[in-house]
Amino acid sequence: MKKQLLVAAIENGTVIDHIPAEKLFAVVNLLHLESMKTAVTIGYNLQSEGMGTKSIIKMADKFFTDEELNQLAVICPNLTLCIIRDYEIVEKRTVCLPDELRGIVRCTNPKCITNNEPMRTHFHLHGSNALKCHYCNTVVSLDDVRLVERP
Ligand SMILES: [Zn+2]
Repeated sequence: MKKQLLVAAIENGTVIDHIPAEKLFAVVNLLHLESMKTAVTIGYNLQSEGMGTKSIIKMADKFFTDEELNQLAVICPNLTLCIIRDYEIVEKRTVCLPDELRGIVRCTNPKCITNNEPMRTHFHLHGSNALKCHYCNTVVSLDDVRLVERP
């Protein structure tokens, strides 16, 4: 059993599970893990039943806001998130894209009002793999979406 325990348990925090290996570093960048002060464990290319390999990130004392979850869902839909308290999983949820995203994604149309005025972007889910700008109707594929820079 101990051999299978590839990643140490955490007392309180969040585990992001089932990250496709090719998305791991995008998630690492998005979460700004390099500036976290608490323990972070990154597991890359771990063996996974059913998925071949997977990657996971464990963050001690880190709990996500809804905005952070939406950002995660944009770059990596269908993640599993486990909330850990006192070494137990108290909540397990799949992160899905909401129908509307505000202030998360940039519009690719340079003439869009959101690229020219200090205002939040607003997108609607368009099919299963794209977003549509509320203001100019530009459709942006989730594969080449750009996130709004956060301060
Ligand atoms: Zn737009």
